[in-house]
Amino acid sequence: MSIAATSLHEMIHAYLINYAITGQMQLEENSNFNELLNAFILFYDDQTPDTATTLDDEIHNTMNDFIDTMALSLLAYATAQGYDDVDVSFCKKLCWGTMVGTDLFEEVLSSSQQLEYENIAAIEQDNILNENPKGTSCD
Ligand SMILES: [Zn+2]
Repeated sequence: MSIAATSLHEMIHAYLINYAITGQMQLEENSNFNELLNAFILFYDDQTPDTATTLDDEIHNTMNDFIDTMALSLLAYATAQGYDDVDVSFCKKLCWGTMVGTDLFEEVLSSSQQLEYENIAAIEQDNILNENPKGTSCD
């Protein structure tokens, strides 16, 4: 489950980068993408650690708009794998767990949500058997 959730997270990175560098992301009034596009423009104009960090932060901020879609995709994966005790709420928490360490994670979630989602992500990632992970071990 962790590999699937992380893959979804990384695919959003790839999607947004592709969307920007192919010119599909345009500055528009009231667009959620304006701050992200400005970060892309600054980064490609002057590639420094600072502009890279700003861009990475903006990409993660934009992922807030994709969490529900990520959760539904993860649920489809879980269902296909036969993980019957997984629901969309769990998938959403695990998708949030891929955001640990980002500004978005700390700004959008309460401290109890952060703790819960970080724990869920750790249980799945490390397959902590006495905590009943939903997925199976990779070995
Ligand atoms: Zn990321």
